[in-house]
Amino acid sequence: MKKYFLFGNWKMHKTIKETLEYADCLKGYVEYNEKFEIGVFPPFTALESFAKTVRSMPITVGAQNMHYEEKGAFTGEISPLMLKEIGVKYVLIGHSERRHIFKEDNGLINKKVLSAINHELVPVLCIGETLEERKSNKTESVIKEQIEQGLNGVNSNNFIIAYEPVWAIGTGVNATPEQAREVHKFIRELLFHKFGESSNDISILYGGSIKVDNFGSLAEVENIDGGLVGGASLDCSTFIELYEILKSKK
Ligand code: PEP
Repeated sequence: MKKYFLFGNWKMHKTIKETLEYADCLKGYVEYNEKFEIGVFPPFTALESFAKTVRSMPITVGAQNMHYEEKGAFTGEISPLMLKEIGVKYVLIGHSERRHIFKEDNGLINKKVLSAINHELVPVLCIGETLEERKSNKTESVIKEQIEQGLNGVNSNNFIIAYEPVWAIGTGVNATPEQAREVHKFIRELLFHKFGESSNDISILYGGSIKVDNFGSLAEVENIDGGLVGGASLDCSTFIELYEILKSKK
């Protein structure tokens, strides 16, 4: 069954104290719903506290990155086993900031995707073109390459795609519903080509400057199966409002 997600990527924000206040705020508002899911991706230091606090709530927990190995001499890295141990379910792989600031390429991203699946974590594979690539009509070729290389060797449909145009992340300029519609349709076709009928259950989220006043028109677009929200997820009541918008559109 296709599910619709609202995910909040906090990036490098919030201390443990702030995280627990946020969890407290979510408490009263979110009810279990088999079609919709709300999840939060805190920084590593706050992950365990958040996971423990929301364990009995219908809120899932994700990590913002991971290494593909289980252990080893990789100073500063976190392994899939470590994430599993504290109750993490999802992991962002290939977020634009990882690709562009930390120079992660499709080969490395693919290793992480495969490792996440092998460890029964659900990878959220983030893809998207830069402004320059869009302007030179390379959007589809970039997306195709990111999907094909990122999902190389993947046989399961237990992953999520987040289409996040680089030019829309943290800029205040979101993709228009029409721009997003075109790319999401293209992604859906690529997934169908690779996974056949079972690809219909793969959720494709949109991310990039989602706000309360633009999310309604994005969420109603076919093949937009939810949102990955950065800045606007930092405020708990805004995040809840976005979740309500998603539920009203699907
Ligand atoms: C993100 O971090 O994935 C993101 C989409 O950020 P923002 O919503 O702030 O553009």
